[in-house]
Amino acid sequence: MLRDEELLLALLNSAPVIEGVPTDGLEGAAGRELARSWGGKGSADEVARLTRVRRALQTIVREDDGTAVGELAGVLDDAVRTPRITPSGVVWELHIPEDDRLVAGVVLAWSNVITEFPGRLRACANDECTQFLVDHSRPGTAKWCSMAVCGNRMKARTHARRAKS
Ligand SMILES: [Zn+2]
Repeated sequence: MLRDEELLLALLNSAPVIEGVPTDGLEGAAGRELARSWGGKGSADEVARLTRVRRALQTIVREDDGTAVGELAGVLDDAVRTPRITPSGVVWELHIPEDDRLVAGVVLAWSNVITEFPGRLRACANDECTQFLVDHSRPGTAKWCSMAVCGNRMKARTHARRAKS
């Protein structure tokens, strides 16, 4: 089972632009395989719902105005959390229909990440990039999905612009 942040970023970043060409990792047989690797069933219905949730979450993170939250309506309708008392305290158990487990899990993962790291989930600052990141830097100023890819590319561009002017 993936950790919340891994699962969330895996979904958000499953449609990268490669060499200028938009791709979609959730398409076709590879998409069903990907869903299975995240702990899902890999059904066509599950992949379709993952695609819809991905679009909604990407919009929510990018626009930051909350209107896309409506697109997530229904995803958690059948989820129930019940308390169980154990010697080490109360444990909340999540009950969810097997077919909804992955799709609901992604939305819960998103919620956990933005609660645990407020303001740290963001889109890559390279506007030709479609990736997302969770900023774990101490000052909270990380801008790139990857320093190696987007960070260096954008720095090189700034240098080139400066050299020209
Ligand atoms: Zn990037």
